[in-house]
Amino acid sequence: MDTLGASSSPPAPTAEPWELTDGLAVEAIPGKGQGVRARRPFARGETVLAEAALFTQSLRRTNASTNVLPCGGNDAHGHVAARGGLFLRGARFNSSCVPNVNNHWDAARGLLVFRALRDIAPGEELCLAYGRLLATRAARRAEMRAKFGFECACEACALTGRALAESDARRESLGSMYAAHLQGAYGDPMDGLGEAVLAVRMLREEQLPVYASSFYYSGFHCCAAVADYRSAKAWAAKAFDASRAAFGADHASRWKRLVSDPSSYAAAGSLGKRTLAGPDSPLWAVLGLS
Ligand SMILES: [Zn+2]
Repeated sequence: MDTLGASSSPPAPTAEPWELTDGLAVEAIPGKGQGVRARRPFARGETVLAEAALFTQSLRRTNASTNVLPCGGNDAHGHVAARGGLFLRGARFNSSCVPNVNNHWDAARGLLVFRALRDIAPGEELCLAYGRLLATRAARRAEMRAKFGFECACEACALTGRALAESDARRESLGSMYAAHLQGAYGDPMDGLGEAVLAVRMLREEQLPVYASSFYYSGFHCCAAVADYRSAKAWAAKAFDASRAAFGADHASRWKRLVSDPSSYAAAGSLGKRTLAGPDSPLWAVLGLS
């Protein structure tokens, strides 16, 4: 969907591509009107676009979400930011429930930064998430219909039969685990660690790396809490890498201290000492997560 064009005449599907910015072109996308395609490769974590808002407005008003992207701390998790902005270039990205680009607000620079969540090849369409991702297809489609008036036909929404049922089940489970993570509800460290490993695996299956740093954090917390600092270091290194790729080096910088000294974490050693496992353990390879 082309959000900027939603209220004006849609361009003809045969319209000539035009350059959005270096390496990005706006082109006709079958079934979607127009969208943004890569004209060169982009590496995971690379900034594909950084843009200041034409204007910002409160997201608390009804119907404010149609043409705006959030200017706040939480991306791809629903619009929890207090304000949103209109971005003339950024509004050209279509939505997908398997986004390959993440939009993250850089408050210090006053820019919305769009980063590649994985390596992107020339010719691929670049898509953001306009809404919740950790929900069933029915729930995602209902949200897109209500907020933006279109039926999502992304690769996750195009699944059928058993593949769809499995995807729905994974995203619902991930949603519950993500909510527990946000509340800091980890319970027993062994159970918490098992959930973190399961979540990382399901995120891979759903191709949703934007949440990876959150679940690496869960693994880090469990290991640091029982003073298994060797494993905690390995989780922290994963969290740093995933956070930098999705949200940038400034956002990820707090992980540097925890990678070098996990015992400086506030909850370090708060539970009885135990040895758990990190993403550097043989278990990781057995699960195919290396
Ligand atoms: Zn979708």
